[in-house]
Amino acid sequence: MAETFRAVLITRSEEHGQSVDFVELSEDDLMEGDVTVAVEATTVNYKDGLAITGKAPVVRRFPMIPGVDLAGTVTRSSHPQWKEGDRVILNGWGVGETHYGAYAGRARVSGDWLVPLPAEMSPADAMAIGTAGYTAMLCVMALERHGIVPDRGRVVVTGAAGGVGSVAVSLLANLGYEVVASTGRQSEASYLRELGAAEIIGREELSAPARPLGKERWAGGVDAVGSHTLANVLSMTSYGGAVAACGLAQGMDLPASVAPFILRGVSLLGIDSVMAPKSLRLEAWGRLARDLDRSKMAALASTIPFSQVVEAAEDIVAGRVRGRLVVEM
Ligand code: NDP
Repeated sequence: MAETFRAVLITRSEEHGQSVDFVELSEDDLMEGDVTVAVEATTVNYKDGLAITGKAPVVRRFPMIPGVDLAGTVTRSSHPQWKEGDRVILNGWGVGETHYGAYAGRARVSGDWLVPLPAEMSPADAMAIGTAGYTAMLCVMALERHGIVPDRGRVVVTGAAGGVGSVAVSLLANLGYEVVASTGRQSEASYLRELGAAEIIGREELSAPARPLGKERWAGGVDAVGSHTLANVLSMTSYGGAVAACGLAQGMDLPASVAPFILRGVSLLGIDSVMAPKSLRLEAWGRLARDLDRSKMAALASTIPFSQVVEAAEDIVAGRVRGRLVVEM
């Protein structure tokens, strides 16, 4: 009899809507792919929360195994780059959305989607970073490419106590930036200072409708929140600055004016992690291995067993998760 493993399966029916269950599957149940990976660790991103709660149409094929991030060991491969025993990471590429994802003992995927696990990281280390952390790195790289280096002035991080935000605060502080952390959870101020934030501001300072231009407060920023918050961040960015936008925790809208762009030469840098080309991913993971202070990751990440993944998905959408969650299989 084929060996089985536990998986989370999202199904949908006209009658019952969406349901989420733990099931036993075998490799025969998995989708097409040229590499099979034994999943050793995964995580819960905001997007996984949306998929499991059904609050946004993240899942585009049913049934679906959710989970957009995994780290593990190759058990079988017909892809030229990978062989049995290789340790790998996968972020995005539609995994957990259109292709069976990470919340299962095994994943069968395209070898083109995988990047090698950096030698200095365990699967749990990589998942403490996950898509959220790798996206934070993409944001930092975009700011750097735009010349926003520490000497240019302060940088703001919104949604700072969340996954993207926490890693962004930690990375930027470690690279020598003076970081302003915006959070709705003042109770997390000491946590954010521990990660390296120089100043903590309340979420409400940025969440109301924005004026076209505000006082220049920072040279750049990483925005995980969107909507009025991003509009305010832009309006308060100093001449020639840039803001990397990656998220929509407040909303997908952008009720802003063009004033920061045409009067201050501010740039808005769009960040997508899901379809980012492999060269950028390799650069980002190389930088994460080098530039992230791993001693801070213990404060930033908590570990939960696979059996708690559904509750954690509900918690992240409700804004109850601090930093990052590692799911051990
Ligand atoms: P988290 O839930 O961990 O973090 C989001 C944070 O945003 C919360 O912790 C909270 O921070 C803040 N927040 C939540 N609701 C609101 C609100 N109504 N108004 C203002 N702030 C709010 O999620 P992730 O870090 O995993 O993801 C952050 C965002 O980035 C999500 O929108 C996600 O979809 C997006 N994302 C995009 C990617 C891409 O490729 N572009 C990749 C990964 C994520 P605090 O408590 O500090 O205020």
